[in-house]
Amino acid sequence: MTRLERLQAALERPLLVTSEPNVRYLTGFHSSNAALLVEPKLARLCTDSRYTAAAKLVPGVEVVDIGRDLFAGLIELLQGETSFEAESVSVAAFEKLRSGGASLVAADGPVEALRAVKDARELATIRRAAEITSEAYRRLASEPFAGRREVDLAWRMHELFHQLGAEDDAFPTIVASGPNGAFPHAEPTERVVQEGDLVVVDAGASVGGYNADCTRTFACGEISAERRRAYEICLAAQEVGVAATRAGVLAREVDAAARDLIEASEFAGTFGHGLGHGVGIEVHEAPHVSADAGETRLEAGNVVTIEPGIYVEGLGGVRIEDLVIVTDNGTEVLTTFPKRLTVVG
Ligand code: ZN
Ligand code: ZN
Repeated sequence: MTRLERLQAALERPLLVTSEPNVRYLTGFHSSNAALLVEPKLARLCTDSRYTAAAKLVPGVEVVDIGRDLFAGLIELLQGETSFEAESVSVAAFEKLRSGGASLVAADGPVEALRAVKDARELATIRRAAEITSEAYRRLASEPFAGRREVDLAWRMHELFHQLGAEDDAFPTIVASGPNGAFPHAEPTERVVQEGDLVVVDAGASVGGYNADCTRTFACGEISAERRRAYEICLAAQEVGVAATRAGVLAREVDAAARDLIEASEFAGTFGHGLGHGVGIEVHEAPHVSADAGETRLEAGNVVTIEPGIYVEGLGGVRIEDLVIVTDNGTEVLTTFPKRLTVVG
């Protein structure tokens, strides 16, 4: 069965797919102005004349030239109750559909649920993105950090990804050194890395439309005992998180396994974000590995990150992030750059 057929088999009512990555996942078709109206026996790919030639190459769909104003055009096609993707429809677009007479019901992410379990080809592509990412880390780690600005190191990762065959960065690389490391999503600044800093580098390559995501924290020269201790606690939590990951477990229990270790240490209260997230066509997608993941259970074929962090004002930050495939027995870890503390010059 194709992805589209699997979705059709599970539908209760017509589903309007407007999220760009979801349209791409179901059809392979890429456009900034497209929607897919999926019914049990019919799928209509709606776009405008700029894209119809490419859309006609998609098997199993009927192409509708709907004009530039996608949502105005869709009104004609929507009959009866239709599910829609609330997270990708603006309030303005929603009002346009509703005032045109459409009866809309928010869907609970049926395409995201399909995307969460990767097929063999997707896994192979993500493995490749992770290999490039790991090799870029190896090369970066062989270079001196001290005296370079965070933005220079981030640019270097971009260059390495390109040299190693990536199509793009999965997201703008984070390099957070010294006190900047205390902010989990710091943007690289002009700060010059200094001896004694912890340096958090969070980066991923993108290949074939799929992403990798990896974080390593480096020690620039000799670091204080407290920073070394923070690293050790974070690493222990990360390893406990990976060890707890397997098909069938509750995602929130994996989060708790890693979190409890940090909470039992002198760094209690310093790990403020979720333990991990799914990665695929998007860098953040289902399933989420966090305390509020409810009854979500991990499944074989999920690709998730395990990324605890310790963030302390003044001390800086440590985050260690692996990308793993969930299997029935545990995990296949895709990010192979070593996790023991790497000291750079
Ligand atoms: Zn990351
Ligand atoms: Zn991540």
